[in-house]
Amino acid sequence: MFVLKFGGTSVADQAAIVRLVEIVRASGPQSVVVVSALGGATDRLLGLAAQAGAGDADGARENVRLLLERHLQVAGVIADYGLREDVERHLGEEFGALARVVSALAVLKEVSPRWLDAIAATGELASSRIVAAALESRGLPSAWVDARRVMVTSAEHTAAPPLMAETEARMRHELIPHLSAGRIPVLGGFVGATVEGVTTTLGRGGSDYSAAIVGACLGASEIQIWTDVDGMLTADPRLVPNAKVVPQLSFDEASELAYFGAKVLHPATILPAMAKNIPVRILNSRNAEARGTMITASRPATGRPLTAVASKRNVTVVNIASTRMLMAHGFLHKLFGVFEHHGTSVDVVTTSEVSVSVTVDDVRRLPRILEDLTAFAEVTSSSDLAVLCVVGEGIQGDATFVSRLLQALGPVPIRMLSQASERRNITIVIPDASLPAALLRVHDAFFGESADVGRGFSRAEGDR
Ligand code: ASP
Ligand code: MG
Repeated sequence: MFVLKFGGTSVADQAAIVRLVEIVRASGPQSVVVVSALGGATDRLLGLAAQAGAGDADGARENVRLLLERHLQVAGVIADYGLREDVERHLGEEFGALARVVSALAVLKEVSPRWLDAIAATGELASSRIVAAALESRGLPSAWVDARRVMVTSAEHTAAPPLMAETEARMRHELIPHLSAGRIPVLGGFVGATVEGVTTTLGRGGSDYSAAIVGACLGASEIQIWTDVDGMLTADPRLVPNAKVVPQLSFDEASELAYFGAKVLHPATILPAMAKNIPVRILNSRNAEARGTMITASRPATGRPLTAVASKRNVTVVNIASTRMLMAHGFLHKLFGVFEHHGTSVDVVTTSEVSVSVTVDDVRRLPRILEDLTAFAEVTSSSDLAVLCVVGEGIQGDATFVSRLLQALGPVPIRMLSQASERRNITIVIPDASLPAALLRVHDAFFGESADVGRGFSRAEGDR
């Protein structure tokens, strides 16, 4: 059994849904389909929620109307008249309710996280109905499944973690009978509900995560993430035009890459798949012939130390120095406690005997964090930095890798450098302005025409 997840661009319009139907047909009846909202719909929904919060009832309602219009237009892909009429009625009801909600919220001038979830969920609830009917009308027996009945989450609105035991029980109970009867279950990703039935969402980009959870709960043989690129690439193609598709990745490599900016896959996706050892394949719905990227527990060796180079721009470094760190225990605990207290995660960490440097991506709470740190340490911060992270299972077996990496970077000033003892990645922080050139140089050295993949690829004596 396969789980096929289609992202926003793969359900964006009628033509995309026609392609989706043919992909599902080729996959066969033992498939579950998980869909995102129509491309851009979630942004629109959050935008109109913000309008309502600002008291602009007319503006928000007008945007609800436009969004309904778009969905009705896309629903034109449903070939069967009766099925289409049914979906049109549901869309009318859903968006009608949404218009009433935004009107009320505009009076209150406040949108709580709970309402934000209810509003955002409209996108996946609507797209999944359209897709289920489109499949059915083109000869593929399908069943729309309300994601809120099967994805059970905590009540942490806008980023609610799923409750796995409850979710697995519900998924098996609701989805397996459809599969046994030869029907393809179709559900919206991203959306869930609490045990009490209050609508929640898993967080932006969460449909990948939904698909992986469905796969893990049903013991799927493969989770396919259908998107609009040919797979994971060796580097960001906006910065490295000759980036190539990576045919195979390990779960560990994929999670490093997902965290450091490879937008193709939501970072959490890997976890349920990893736990159940289910392969994840990234495929292009506009180019179904391409082989894509296969992610598995272990992958065949390629002879290259590197698998890909990830990068993240607009990063801020916080430097925390304390003379008291000398011989003081509990300093790191205290320091990270400040970040935790402000709900801000740090990505890269380096330490010396008297100082710690961390990178943060989300700087919204930075002023407060700096203030709290100042109570017990000397603190400075610098922005306009970028993270360059080289990832590859082959790094650990390559004794000369680091020296070749530094050579490739050349004159780029390095602000931070970190290598975990697993040596699956090396992370470097450099000025943001240097990133484009640095990426090109590193990519060229390890993936370019002249990359000498064999050189230095030897396992040093006594080296793991
Ligand atoms: N539609 C949601 C978003 O745009 C979830 C997803 O597509 O993964 O964030
Ligand atoms: Mg996505």
